[in-house]
Amino acid sequence: MELHKTLQQQIETILPQHLRDAPEMRHLFELISKNFPPYENAGKLAAKEDSQNDVLALPLPVSAEQYEAQMRQVSKIKNLIFSMDSELEKENPDQYDLEFAVNFLERRVAEFNMLEVMAREAITSAENSVKVKSNFLSVMSHEIRTPLNAIIGSIHILKQEEHLPSQETYIKSLQISADNLLNLINDILDFNKIEEGKITFAKQDINLRTLLNNIRLANFFKATERGNKIKIMFDEEIPDFVVGDEVRLAQILNNLISNAIKFTTQGMVLIEIQLEESKGNQLKINFSIKDTGIGIDTKMKDQIFERFTQADSNINREYGGSGLGLTIVRRLLQLQKSDINVDSDLGKGSRFYFSLTFGTSNKIGTDDHIYEPEDQNLKQIQILLVEDVEFNVLIARKMLTSWNANVDVANNGEMAVEKFKTNKYDIILMDLQMPIMDGISATKIIRDLGGTLPIIALTASASHEVQMNVKQAGMTGYVSKPFNPDDLYNTIKKYVIQA
Ligand code: ADP
Repeated sequence: MELHKTLQQQIETILPQHLRDAPEMRHLFELISKNFPPYENAGKLAAKEDSQNDVLALPLPVSAEQYEAQMRQVSKIKNLIFSMDSELEKENPDQYDLEFAVNFLERRVAEFNMLEVMAREAITSAENSVKVKSNFLSVMSHEIRTPLNAIIGSIHILKQEEHLPSQETYIKSLQISADNLLNLINDILDFNKIEEGKITFAKQDINLRTLLNNIRLANFFKATERGNKIKIMFDEEIPDFVVGDEVRLAQILNNLISNAIKFTTQGMVLIEIQLEESKGNQLKINFSIKDTGIGIDTKMKDQIFERFTQADSNINREYGGSGLGLTIVRRLLQLQKSDINVDSDLGKGSRFYFSLTFGTSNKIGTDDHIYEPEDQNLKQIQILLVEDVEFNVLIARKMLTSWNANVDVANNGEMAVEKFKTNKYDIILMDLQMPIMDGISATKIIRDLGGTLPIIALTASASHEVQMNVKQAGMTGYVSKPFNPDDLYNTIKKYVIQA
């Protein structure tokens, strides 16, 4: 064992050679050497003759074991610090003192701090670009929706007015294209809303049987056109009502059912709803939509859930679509702690299925209203239409009167308030942006005057802010322009019946 340097020097100056090498003496020296550091401290202390404070600041004498333990810890710290750097890792930490290692650590901490600042800046800039994207989308959607409103409305009027049989195909093609464009805009906006985390899920009583029947009826014409039958199999164990978000569930089912119809000809779409589990006040229900259509190639089964992805390049040409529907379905389910599954055989058909958990409801019995597509009759209800653009008035008035409603028109919010004071209406359809007085202000005044009738916002802007403002102003509902005539009809009917 090598002796402590100072001890070695002292031995060399004091002891003659033969004593130094004697084994007993050597043993003694080694023992002293092990305990030498504490004595050394005491030596330093004596030499300095320092004040009491300095004495206290000096490390207390430690035993050899304690000293070795401390050294081991220092060595561990050094090894750890050296292992943080690929260059330093190759070096032997024993060659460097602790101060070197600590300095290195300080430099690394400063570098990390700088990286953190840079990361924060990157996050802020990404957040800003998401905001820019979202604003861009809502402005663009407004710009696209406004002319589309005119197109869809004109098609609706064209369809109703007398036209040559040879024009039928063109009108139909116009309508399909306009509907597709509207669906695409709605999908993009919805997708954007989901990406921004702005989707919340309502808790309301849902009659699943009525919901399914309505979705079937809404898809009935398209199914018949393609020679498809739609069959619903409903588990009798499922109660009349469950609690969940009806609009989002309808959106998921509609997407899957309309896909099943779109990708099937002369076949069958089977919708099965089964109670999977009933625990306390929760019901887990399984939904399955099975078709006998074109099926999906095994290697595309995951990709079809990616945005803007279709199973192959011919799909868009033959069937249209944007490839956003299933992405939205998946995200909506994932936000409700579920997911979508698919089994498919190319050329034979597909089955899409998922489970969702609902709350139990106290409500029993059948639901109020089953939507009948041919029964579009508003039975002479009084509607106040508040809209400043003449062409929009023309279209809306045509639609509303074709459903047997009586329509009165106000060209701005102020006129609407005056008309409300002197007439009796069943419902008000209110544009938002108008000269003199906008729709939000007019609604607030009507509500302050004690008006409780349903007021539905009609607007081309679908931004989250606008929807919030509409709610806060006391409006009952919201139909985005251009309205699908069926949506407008159903909204009016729903609120007038409930009111
Ligand atoms: P879109 O229907 O607008 O193309 P989706 O996201 O709804 O977009 O679907 C993505 C793709 O998944 C479709 O383009 C199609 O290739 C495939 N797909 C979806 N549903 C079915 C189905 N029932 N049968 C066959 N293929 C389907």
